[in-house]
Amino acid sequence: MSSDTDIEPIDTNFSREQSASLLQIQHEIMEQLALGTDHQSILDALCRAAEHITENAVASVMLFDESNTFLQVIAAPSLSADAIAQLNGLVPGEEGGSCGAAVYSNKPQYVCNTQADKRWSVFHDFIESFKIGACWSNPIRMNETTPIGSFALASFETRQPTEFHKRLLETCAYIAGIVIKRQKEEDQLWKMAHYDGLTNLPNRSFFNSHLDYSIRIAQRTGKQFALLFLDLDRFKDINDTQGHEAGDEVLKYIAESIKSSLRKNDMFARIGGDEFVILIEDLDDSSLVQQVCEKIASSFLSKVTIQGIDYPLTTSIGVSVFPEHGETPQMLLRNADTAMYAAKRRGAGNYCFYEAELTHNVTERIQLTAEIRKALVQHQFEVYFQPQFDSVSEQLTGAEALIRWPHPDKGMIPPVLFIPVAEQSELIKEIGLYVLEKACRQCLAWWDAGLPKFILAVNVSVNQLDVGFSDHIHNVLKSMAFPIDKLELEITESQVINFDDLEELKKLESLGVGIAMDDFGTGHSSLAHLKRLPITKLKIDRSFVKDLQEDSDDKVIASAIISMGQSLGLKVVAEGVETDAQKCFLVDNGCDQLQGYLLGRPMPPEEFEGFVSSLN
Ligand code: C2E
Ligand code: CA
Ligand code: CA
Repeated sequence: MSSDTDIEPIDTNFSREQSASLLQIQHEIMEQLALGTDHQSILDALCRAAEHITENAVASVMLFDESNTFLQVIAAPSLSADAIAQLNGLVPGEEGGSCGAAVYSNKPQYVCNTQADKRWSVFHDFIESFKIGACWSNPIRMNETTPIGSFALASFETRQPTEFHKRLLETCAYIAGIVIKRQKEEDQLWKMAHYDGLTNLPNRSFFNSHLDYSIRIAQRTGKQFALLFLDLDRFKDINDTQGHEAGDEVLKYIAESIKSSLRKNDMFARIGGDEFVILIEDLDDSSLVQQVCEKIASSFLSKVTIQGIDYPLTTSIGVSVFPEHGETPQMLLRNADTAMYAAKRRGAGNYCFYEAELTHNVTERIQLTAEIRKALVQHQFEVYFQPQFDSVSEQLTGAEALIRWPHPDKGMIPPVLFIPVAEQSELIKEIGLYVLEKACRQCLAWWDAGLPKFILAVNVSVNQLDVGFSDHIHNVLKSMAFPIDKLELEITESQVINFDDLEELKKLESLGVGIAMDDFGTGHSSLAHLKRLPITKLKIDRSFVKDLQEDSDDKVIASAIISMGQSLGLKVVAEGVETDAQKCFLVDNGCDQLQGYLLGRPMPPEEFEGFVSSLN
């Protein structure tokens, strides 16, 4: 037998019958424990056995609550609910009755006359109500030393315990200790199997069984519920650059922030590295879900600082609703995941409800991603150049590099169809570098051949701006001997305003690289915001140039952008200039540079070379 169950030899002062009854109790309880009987029933049985051999007495087991401050009755099958309620919350102390004193002193307490005993002095009402004459209590210990509760026999008469009674108490307290310890171990195991050790949130397996249960309940009650699928944006950056410990801290922080935005009963689980799910049950309408999504978005700090570096913290959320978007756990999870990807496409920190069309898009997206990867390996991508001119001198000032994908089967695929897909994965980084290197090499070749030097503008997606981006670009330029001040990066306004970490752009700007804010006017930047950004140029979005002739609103916007740029000391370029009328308006209003079909379309390198040569 294990040391847990070893008991000192029974004192020979007891009668044979008494010794036998003690052995009997131990035997029965150990058997129940071995059989896997539930712990509550075992403790109840222990109390009843003690009562059986002690006439006119009731037994009870008390245990510390979670905070280790109060004692709670955990077994007392013969005590009334009223008596239990009055005992609960007992604080251990010298005057804490027999049990409070036993736990406090870590020694057995034998109160033979409750009326006259100091230890019971504050329990007169209890004595009156329940007619307790004597109460003997033995501490229950977790290990040899630490008391965690008490086993007590309270008598409806005043009485002294015999040696046998004392041994009975000691034995019962000991057995109760074993049962409780086993219970705690099992709780611990259960917790390990069902909870995530890092965040203390339910884990995937617990979540799955809860989801099954929620579906059954919702089917019965006819209520809806929502499943929210959360994925942190750019979490990988933190892990990659700051190490897993920093990543863990961020996950803990996030789990806490999200928890504080939820109702107490909402199921919230961590089901993967940086993936979380939430169930919002008893939904009457989906506005509640919307509120929760917005609350989560605003509960995060906009960024977290680790070792002096700021990382933006946002999460993308996809929502599926039972039964509308699925009636099985798999469907609900898959559709919420799909919606989450759609949310990510809208930019970091967004949420999106599932729609059937999204599934179609996912299949397409996966296929396209595979094709892009293949195209990179097979060098299918080409770079076209579109000229930019000074609006007053009409001299060539620069060229924008624009990617082209002449697909072997599908013909020319426009960038608006594949760049957003590439931006969903690491592929955009490869594409970005591919275009940059190819365009730089081409320009160097032209300049070597005597073409005038101009600014090379290259489009960059914010998803490329990982830590180390600036160093990488710098090294690439250095290795090719490409003049740093001849490079300009174009970055879209709507992407920039959702992105807090512009450290990499700042570094490049300080090295002399130009930074143009592309599609300007569509992202609603404020003047105050612009002042803080590392930019050298504003590019008025094509949509404002398009209707310049007729639309007076666009005229107001375009001229406002121009004067905004001027007041910040930035150059302003207009893109999409197709007519003389547009050109005149822009020139008259002080726009510095022009780009558009009127002046030159995007051209393949050979054509561009001829075009530039013919300018002089
Ligand atoms: P964007 O940066 O705004 O590029 C300008 C787009 O306007 C180009 O479309 C260009 O061909 C088109 N355009 C130029 N002049 C005119 C005009 O007068 N009228 C009209 N209607 N359109 C004009 P494109 O080449 O289809 O590129 C679309 C977008 O794809 C670009 O918009 C840019 O956001 C993205 N893109 C292109 N190449 C790259 C790249 O290498 N990297 C990244 N990240 N994005 C790229
Ligand atoms: Ca551009
Ligand atoms: Ca643009």
